[in-house]
Formats: sequence, structure tokens, C-alpha cells
Amino acid sequence: MKSNPQFIYIVPLGDMSEKYLEGIAESIEENFGLPVKITPNQGIPDYALDVARQQYNSNLILKRLINDAAPDGIKILGVTTVDLFNPIFSFLFGEAQFKGKGAVISSYRLIGNPENESRPGCPPLINRLEKEAIHELGHTFGLKHCADPDCVMQYSVGLECADRKFSFFCPACRDLMLWHLDEDIPRTV
Ligand SMILES: [Zn+2]
Ligand SMILES: [Zn+2]
Repeated sequence: MKSNPQFIYIVPLGDMSEKYLEGIAESIEENFGLPVKITPNQGIPDYALDVARQQYNSNLILKRLINDAAPDGIKILGVTTVDLFNPIFSFLFGEAQFKGKGAVISSYRLIGNPENESRPGCPPLINRLEKEAIHELGHTFGLKHCADPDCVMQYSVGLECADRKFSFFCPACRDLMLWHLDEDIPRTV
């Protein structure tokens, strides 16, 4: 029977290049097999700024993304350029609602040292953004951290770790993701 159209939404929060957003969208489509829509840029999430820290509270961003989600959005991924923190971590590459609807990632800490960035063989920012997007969306589908060092669900303590893993799921995580995906998409029968 036919299922309702369901999309993963990418919500740009700040000045992120079109090329990067499209790369992330493609990678999500490949990994989750769901169509992706990119919304107009919503601007820097000023409402989440902690003035004393000069960082942005990712919990507040998640809350807003989920509140404003389009009815046909199965998952919402905010993509920002600002420095994120939450009450547990002093900085974050991204955060997701476990088995929830929302996730957010930031390029801020993924840029790393600009001198290293220009070194031949150094993975470009787009690779890191794609991995972070798949990893955080994986959490929204109920995936936990994976011990396989190649798997995108491996917990990365730093950029070196993040650069070592692939931008896709290991077979076990992939199976689990497909199973959860089936559970998450309400079908009309
Ligand atoms: Zn994680
Ligand atoms: Zn895995």
C-alpha cells in the first residue's frame, strides 16, 4: 500500500554554502533512502546565544527545530556555523534527540586548524559535515554508538577519529537503522 510522503528536512541556520548543503542532502538520501528537502536559511539562532559563554545552546536549537517542523518532516536536521554547547559538553560537533525528530550539526569545530586543512590528503570540511549529519540522524533513528572504528556511528572524540571512520553505517548498524526506519514511518494501509 502507499505510504505518506515523508522527508528529512535540512534547515540552514547561518551562512552555509549551497554546495555543502547539497552534499549533505545527497549523503542523507544515500544512507537513509529518504528524500531530502532544504529549507530557506533561517539565519543564526540568536535565541540560543549564551552571552557569557559566547556559544549557542544546542538544546534550545533542537527545541525550536522540532516545534517548527513541517508536518511531512520525519526528521529535521539543523546545519549551523556557530559554536555549540549543551549543559553536559563544553562544545559539540552536533547533537540529536535519541529516537526523536531533531538533530543539529555545526561546522564551527569541524573546520579544525586552517593550516592543516590546506595540507594535501586532509579531508575537506564537506566529508566531516556529511559524517556528522549521518551520525546525528542515526541517533534520531535509535542508533547508539558503535565499536566498529570504520562505522559512522563510532563515537569520535576528536577530528582525527572523525576523519578515520567512513560516512556510512557498518552492516549491523545499517540493519538496525532499516528496522527503526520501518517503525518510524507511519504507513497508511
Ligand atoms: Zn553520537
Ligand atoms: Zn556500526
